[in-house]
Amino acid sequence: MRKSYAQLAAEPVPQTEPLNERQVQNNAGGFVFQLDDFKRLERFLILGSDSNTYYQTAKALTRENAACVTRCWEADAFKTSGVIERISQEGRAPKNDPAIFALALGVAHADPKVRAPAYATVQAVCRTGTHLFQFLEMVKALGKGLSSPGMKKTIKRWYMSRSPASVAYQLVKYRQRNGFTHKRALEICGFGAKAAVTGEGIAYHNLFNWAKGKECPVAGLPSIITDHMDAMAASSDPKEVARIIAIGARGQKLPWEAIPTEVKKDPDVWRALLPEMGATALVRNLGAMTAYGVLKPLADETRIVVEKLTSAEELRKGRLHPFNLLVARGVYSQGHGQHGGRKGEPMTWKPVPQIVAALEEAFYLSFKTIEPANKRVLIGLDVSGSMTTPLASSPISVAQGAAAMCMSVLRTEPQCHVFGFSHQFKELGFTPKMSLEEVCKVTERMSFGSTDCSLPMIYARKNKLTVDVFQVFTDNETYAGRAHPVEELRKYRQETGIPAKLVVVGMTATNFTIADPQDPGMLDVVGFDSAAPSVMAHFARS
Ligand code: CA
Repeated sequence: MRKSYAQLAAEPVPQTEPLNERQVQNNAGGFVFQLDDFKRLERFLILGSDSNTYYQTAKALTRENAACVTRCWEADAFKTSGVIERISQEGRAPKNDPAIFALALGVAHADPKVRAPAYATVQAVCRTGTHLFQFLEMVKALGKGLSSPGMKKTIKRWYMSRSPASVAYQLVKYRQRNGFTHKRALEICGFGAKAAVTGEGIAYHNLFNWAKGKECPVAGLPSIITDHMDAMAASSDPKEVARIIAIGARGQKLPWEAIPTEVKKDPDVWRALLPEMGATALVRNLGAMTAYGVLKPLADETRIVVEKLTSAEELRKGRLHPFNLLVARGVYSQGHGQHGGRKGEPMTWKPVPQIVAALEEAFYLSFKTIEPANKRVLIGLDVSGSMTTPLASSPISVAQGAAAMCMSVLRTEPQCHVFGFSHQFKELGFTPKMSLEEVCKVTERMSFGSTDCSLPMIYARKNKLTVDVFQVFTDNETYAGRAHPVEELRKYRQETGIPAKLVVVGMTATNFTIADPQDPGMLDVVGFDSAAPSVMAHFARS
């Protein structure tokens, strides 16, 4: 039977056709909305673009993001520097590299009105010597010389805004990165070459001379520098190195980066390091400390480690990010390292169950505080084929990372259900009591198929589920549906009378979203933003 005009006009628009003129084609051939540049800046800062996605190479994705960051700088330099600073300072991203890169793009810009706020933000974003070296390396790679007055001033301020004790700590802990050293940084800014040195200036003068390898009076150096020199001289004597670490003053004890490599297999050395070790160093060295027999069941050291890992304060101080903890939990529990050591053999250890459990607890603790919204939340987890690519060059897939993040919502909201979808609905059976390992395993088993992001809304409507908020975790590469997700959401709202909201949790740094930016009931957040669960809960309540 021939359809009437009215019937034809009411037919849904498939995802392979644009719903309106505001839509763009995604990498999978479907049509979605376009994320604005500042929203994409956030995605880039948090997710980065250093690994290939299912549809794009890291190179292409990075080029697109670099162009977007530059557009942000040109549109509003102060807003851009503010976004970069906030995300970096609050530890919302797993890595600081995208923030440093975004700053380098600002500093390398031709317009001084862009460069000024970019330079002014370096201090806040480049908090360690390693960050400073990365920044210098990136500026250089962008073809900008390092000897401009702005750069010299910025490097000088980096050192002089710290106390001599804090500079000393930076000098021994972060010694070099890809050819950049403190010596080189100090030479670039032409530090203290001629000026007469008096008063407090003497302390800096001595430190800089030491960093540059020049003669300087040992008596004029902070104890952490002399401890470092003593430890390096005692490289064949682990007992002596352990003694030097143990007698170090509080806050000025040698960190593990400042001791000779030769003694890093000695359990006594690790025992001496442990009391002052920050959460980041701790997480990085759990496998090594277990392999060398420092961490074992019932040991005092194990108790100390568990206490530190489950302290919200320690995690916050070290800016520990849930993504890094999720990766660390995966690596530690498998009992062997990712890469081979010097001899090509990966390090192996027997995981201590209490430490695996502490890492799991740390994962949830490291999200910014979440207050339940007490709304009915239906989570749709995209487990289609494109979600099986690794998340930010880690051993975890995008889908598994998204699944772990769902768990933080599932454990917080009293009324929450998670299901998976690709081109069809998939019951995942997630419960708040499940371990991250189980969740990752289930997700891995489910992941395949094409993508239809409208399925959560269709499923809820057909099964008469009462939903206040749909949360869809996806890469937004949807194309297989007979109707657009926003149309299905509107249909759901109409049929149920519930003004349901939609949160899109974007898991890749593209500019695509299934959420209509003009609908106030829809929100885009960035996957693995440690603040995302609390932002989502706030949006659900509002
Ligand atoms: Ca897909």
